[in-house]
Amino acid sequence: MLNVLLLVLLLWPAAVFAQQTERVAIFVVTFPDRPPPSEPIGVVAARAFGPTTPDGVFSLKSYWEAASYGHLKVTGTVYGYLPINLPSTCPGSPLYPEWTQAATIEAAKRGYSPANFTKRIFVWQNVICGNSFTVGVGGTVMFLQSGFSVDIASHEFGHALGLSHSHLAVCVDAAGRPATFGIDLTDATAASGQGPGRCTESDSGDPFGIMGGRFTGPLNAAHRSFLGWMTGRLQTITSDGDFAIAPLQLQTAPLPQALAVLPPGQTSPGEAYYVEYRPGATGGQFDPAASGVVVHTRSGSSTEVYDADLANPEVYHLGLQLGVPVHHPVKGFTLTLLSMVSNRAVVRVTFERRSLGN
Ligand SMILES: [Zn+2]
Repeated sequence: MLNVLLLVLLLWPAAVFAQQTERVAIFVVTFPDRPPPSEPIGVVAARAFGPTTPDGVFSLKSYWEAASYGHLKVTGTVYGYLPINLPSTCPGSPLYPEWTQAATIEAAKRGYSPANFTKRIFVWQNVICGNSFTVGVGGTVMFLQSGFSVDIASHEFGHALGLSHSHLAVCVDAAGRPATFGIDLTDATAASGQGPGRCTESDSGDPFGIMGGRFTGPLNAAHRSFLGWMTGRLQTITSDGDFAIAPLQLQTAPLPQALAVLPPGQTSPGEAYYVEYRPGATGGQFDPAASGVVVHTRSGSSTEVYDADLANPEVYHLGLQLGVPVHHPVKGFTLTLLSMVSNRAVVRVTFERRSLGN
């Protein structure tokens, strides 16, 4: 009995579920020369840390806990409203030293202690001084303009976790026709437009996820993988076959939830083409963006989504079309969506047979 217990204890560390906790202090700051806030502070607290929000969408907490499949726990306190006795004239310094200091002093009167938190979000109520931003990718301080908006807060929180933007790549082939994959974007010569075909990218153009420009939709599999959250959910593909995947958003799934297609000769997860299935659920007006099977790559902490629906030039249609093969002319593989029902999609992957002798 003792031996069995010992064996279990020895084996257990390999299976430990890596969990990270972020404790977030949110300072909601009001100014004497601006209109008072129209909502009770409890509404802000619900948008930040509630199970769902009064708006019927995700909270900062629920978004990231779901995106991480429970690897990340988000807790925190909202301090506010915090009246500071300074004019709302936008300061010259981009880091708002006087405003943050005054807000911190006000919060300390209400029990705030820096040692209790890993991240801080300063929210300027009814004031807009430029963009909301995070101080550096992986930084611990975020600034939100004009109140606490859960979608922008969730985007900035992604930066604070170490993520850069999700780009959109629009490509043409060697003949100049629209193509899903024009070139190898990691090839500097080709990317400069000198290779066969080319792609142009828009910085936060991915409409499929929080790190793109729509500030909505599930975090893509490439970003989840970068943060270490796809363990046991990602199937690496290096040979031909038909592969079934379950929706990326499911917390538990009987199938892999993304494919990492590795072209011949490439071994690093960073060189994979990530194929994921995201049935539309909460996309609202962006429903087409929230639906379908899409392909991303990752470069460092950035990701890139490719337009695989060339028949629909409108950018919110990017998903693989049923039965239409999509070929990568440089990497030498083809993806074909064979079927798509509510709880699974099946994708055929074929690799070109290339002679190594020439
Ligand atoms: Zn951003």
